[in-house]
Amino acid sequence: MKTKLYLIIALIIIPVLSIANIPIDSTKTNLKKVFTVVLDAGHGGKDPGKHVGHIKESDIALKVVKILGKKLESHQDIKVVYTRRTDKFLELHQRADIANNAKADLFVSVHCNAAAATQAKGNETWVLGIHRNADNLEVVQRENSVILLEEDYKEKYVGFDLNDASSFATNLMTQEEYLDNSIEMGANVQKRFTEDLKRKNRGVKQAGFAVLRLSYMPSVLIETGFLTNREERNFLKSSAGQKKVASSIYNAVLDYQKTRDINLFEVGQVNTSAVIEPAASNVIYKVQISASSKRLDAKSYNFNKLPDISREKDGGIYRYFTGNFSSLKKVSVLHKKAVAKGYKSAFIVFYKNGKRYRL
Ligand SMILES: [Zn+2]
Repeated sequence: MKTKLYLIIALIIIPVLSIANIPIDSTKTNLKKVFTVVLDAGHGGKDPGKHVGHIKESDIALKVVKILGKKLESHQDIKVVYTRRTDKFLELHQRADIANNAKADLFVSVHCNAAAATQAKGNETWVLGIHRNADNLEVVQRENSVILLEEDYKEKYVGFDLNDASSFATNLMTQEEYLDNSIEMGANVQKRFTEDLKRKNRGVKQAGFAVLRLSYMPSVLIETGFLTNREERNFLKSSAGQKKVASSIYNAVLDYQKTRDINLFEVGQVNTSAVIEPAASNVIYKVQISASSKRLDAKSYNFNKLPDISREKDGGIYRYFTGNFSSLKKVSVLHKKAVAKGYKSAFIVFYKNGKRYRL
């Protein structure tokens, strides 16, 4: 009789204890929504982009995008929209319009690089930024120069000076809201190219690309490799190489989509007392307020007087955080405060066993 009673008590208690130990991301499952990705094959038609002999950037970009699109389309919860599926010319603002009309969650523009120095190699991912930097300006001018092939470009891109990256500063606010997410996606791409493809990592960079400035969503422009480097050119022109490049971008998109799913899970919906708090003794919560290639002092006065600023370096990117709590309730209050102070894309992160996760 006594044994039976213990068994019944155990049957009641064990499930309760296991609920308390549920890892946070297992609670996200039925909150999935359709994730729309716009794939933009750079250049096309009268604008071949970079070309070495008969090898054209526009062709390679289109082939990679088609392979990538097919892989993504196999996921029920992913919708793929293409800016072009043939060798046609598109103006930069048309590409952004397609993405904006699709209300896309992510914009991915695929390109190939070139340099006067044939030994230059590796891949890099660009997000929109306003840093004036001579190295950046060269790539920006090349990718933006297509505007000169467009008719009436002076009316369409008012205030746009091809020789001055800082002229993009106007109208930047909207895209800046998405900057953290763009950097997140850029970091995923770089990680995949470096780990899967063993490419030289040239980093996530910020510059004033028109196609990124005009799209109102997290956006990246990927320079998949150098057509001027013999080894990378041979890789990029081969169908095996194109498959590998597409597969790395594919994995980066899935990595990114996963963090969005977790983010969909609103803090307010968490049953804090049952699920989170019992594990809180070894969890630290902070609010990520900003990510940038710019190094700022981790001081409250640099961040609108938010408290407990900390900084971490990830690759070439600095992440800035406010707060340091073991309570989800307290960090939620600070998160609201950060958003109210203008850090609209701020989000909560937590640290467990020395690793940082996004809530
Ligand atoms: Zn290009």
